[in-house]
Order: sequence, then structure tokens, then C-alpha cells
Amino acid sequence: MLLPCPWCGPRNASEFRYVGEQTVRPDPATADPAEWRSYLYMESNPAGWVAENWLHRAGCRRYFAAERHTVTNQVRATRPPDAEAAPAQHADAAAAGRAGEHVREGRP
Ligand SMILES: [Zn+2]
Repeated sequence: MLLPCPWCGPRNASEFRYVGEQTVRPDPATADPAEWRSYLYMESNPAGWVAENWLHRAGCRRYFAAERHTVTNQVRATRPPDAEAAPAQHADAAAAGRAGEHVREGRP
């Protein structure tokens, strides 16, 4: 599997570390222990497209956001963590690098 780093381009998935699904941090002033436990340890784990955080640990060592399909492992977009949800330019190149797969553009 190739994963497109927003800064380095497509790289082997072994260079990356999965950080987790993107979630909204609870308000520290009002959150109770159950909300913190849910935020820190629970994931929705759907069969479909998920917004995730990844670390390019064996490359630029930067965090980034990715949209990945949990069944097919297809990645349709990556971007810096603070960027808007626009796809990075390397996403299509990584998808095209997967042998024998049809690259589908757009939404599921
Ligand atoms: Zn990188």
C-alpha cells in the first residue's frame, strides 16, 4: 500500500504510523471522565471512508490528515493537519500506483 505524504509524496505504508481517527477534543472545562475516556480510547471503526491522522515516522516526521477507505485501503486525499479538507496533489499518484485497481475519482 502506498500512502501519499503531503510533503514527500507517495511512500510505502511501512514508513508511516497510524495515529487515529480525527475527533473533536472535549472542552476541558466541562468534560466529564466518560467523555475523556471516549475521546482517548474509543473509535467508530466504520467500514467505509474515515478521516484519520498519520505520522510519517520514517520520512519527514510530520503529522498529516488522510481520508482512507477502511475496506479497500484506498486513500483519496491527504493534507497537512491544519489545512482545509481539499485533497493534496499526491493522492491521485498514490492511488494510480496500486497495480490492478481502478482509480475512482470523487465521493463514494
Ligand atoms: Zn513525509
